[in-house]
Amino acid sequence: MIQLYIPLNLLGVVYREMKQSLTDVDKMFILLDEKREVLDAPGAQALTGSDFTVRFEDVSFDYEPARPILKHVSFEIPAGKTVAVVGPSGSGKSTLARLLYRFYDVRQGRITIGGQDIREVTQSSVRRAIGIVPQDTVLFNDTIEYNIAYGRPGATREEVEAAARAARIHDFIMATPKGYETTVGERGLKLSGGEKQRAAIARTLLKNPPIVIFDEATSALDSANERAIQSELKNAAQGKTTLVIAHRLSTVVDAHEILVLESGVIVERGTHAQLLVKQGRYAQMWQLQKIEDSE
Ligand code: ATP
Repeated sequence: MIQLYIPLNLLGVVYREMKQSLTDVDKMFILLDEKREVLDAPGAQALTGSDFTVRFEDVSFDYEPARPILKHVSFEIPAGKTVAVVGPSGSGKSTLARLLYRFYDVRQGRITIGGQDIREVTQSSVRRAIGIVPQDTVLFNDTIEYNIAYGRPGATREEVEAAARAARIHDFIMATPKGYETTVGERGLKLSGGEKQRAAIARTLLKNPPIVIFDEATSALDSANERAIQSELKNAAQGKTTLVIAHRLSTVVDAHEILVLESGVIVERGTHAQLLVKQGRYAQMWQLQKIEDSE
């Protein structure tokens, strides 16, 4: 079995193509190889050190030159802290995550981890340091155990179970016909959006990376499920350098810093309290969400 975990929603166009045509990992592998956007610099070394501060320094990016997506974006996620990004659909939020995971290289500026430009170290070492809980987790046509253990190949059943318990998906797994041996994915048991996200959280807990990206699902979960996932996520992000792409503001209130992104520009930034006092875009979004939530 090819050891490959691809957070598909971070792959943009590739994702859309695969969603239609993809049924197995081999095809995914071929497709990925063809679409490879970035390569290791000659002689690149692995990311080193124990400082996992993430910095975006004056980052600009476009998928095609005629259409700039990110414009001079700068922010820092101090090691162990959480930065949340909010903003309208299409403003470039997920693109930030794709750049940090180095699916693409920035056009201008740089992204560093512990002061090291991610273009100058090996791609594999960057990806080892990062765990992603994507919007739409792709599960392999394999057992649920394999799918969770993918976070750390070679993990024992006990470790997989501990991660599943922490992500609150253990009871669900035990209720399936073959428990951890149940096949999931396209050709197996279909999981709901919330269950898939929990599986991804379990995978990330098992991987235990120093950096976590959480791309919150846009699809509506019921509010009890949503609150539960948020608390499980908090678990997974505990003490880690975390980038949260948020669609619901309730996820971001405790963030070290909140960035409001509009058309690829950070138009406001601060803590929840600071942004409310400002009475700007964030405060408006907060009011709107309160009204929506009470409806
Ligand atoms: P949402 O909240 O809907 O997830 P977002 O803020 O995360 O949106 P992005 O996914 O970062 O937005 O997309 C920003 C812009 O870049 C969008 O206009 C999108 O159409 C475009 N885009 C995204 N991926 C690609 C790609 N692979 N090729 C070309 N354009 C792309």
